Amino acid sequence: MNIVCVICSDLLVPSDDVFHTPCGHVFHHACLLQWIERSHTCPQCRQRTTESKIHRIYFNFSNNESILEDPVSLQTRIDSLNFQLKLKQKDVDDLKGENEKLGKQTSGLRHEVRKIENKIVSKDSVIFALNDQIKFFKQECSDMKNYKEENIQLKKELENLKCIRSLVDESVSKLDSIIMETSDTFKLKTYIAVLKRYLLFLIYIILNIYCKIFL
Ligand SMILES: [Zn+2]
Ligand SMILES: [Zn+2]
Repeated sequence: MNIVCVICSDLLVPSDDVFHTPCGHVFHHACLLQWIERSHTCPQCRQRTTESKIHRIYFNFSNNESILEDPVSLQTRIDSLNFQLKLKQKDVDDLKGENEKLGKQTSGLRHEVRKIENKIVSKDSVIFALNDQIKFFKQECSDMKNYKEENIQLKKELENLKCIRSLVDESVSKLDSIIMETSDTFKLKTYIAVLKRYLLFLIYIILNIYCKIFL
């Protein structure tokens, strides 16, 4: 006697876990559990049932019956297994194709990463060179500042020398007017210092002459 599980269309064999519903229909245990998860009815007659209402069923197969399956049912099982094998093979081929696609994508992404890494390295070199230039310009700025200060100092000294020269070159009457017209305190201080030194020099010469004549 060949008994079929209507859920998977396979024959029930002695090694299978076979369960029955309250209405009396029999199925593979795994098939029936999957079915009840989706629908609480018997897969064959649609009578209401739940997991707690199904029970295991035990068959007493004679040795001959378990061994002697008719060729037609054996061929049906072989065809079914072949079909399942083909489906699995198709799944394997699909996964292989997908794997190949992912491999190509990974290789492309690796190439992109390498390109980006190279760009980062070249940008680092540019930043390094720019930092060097910034250091150089900072040094130039510092030097420029020093030159500027030096220039201001030299201008002051030049102004000083011009004052001294004007005092030395001009006549005494002109000196009065020069001093009177000068409002710059710096210039006035310079004039006073120069005149003071000039006066001391004159005193020194007079004293020298006096000593030579009278001593
Ligand atoms: Zn089944
Ligand atoms: Zn039923």
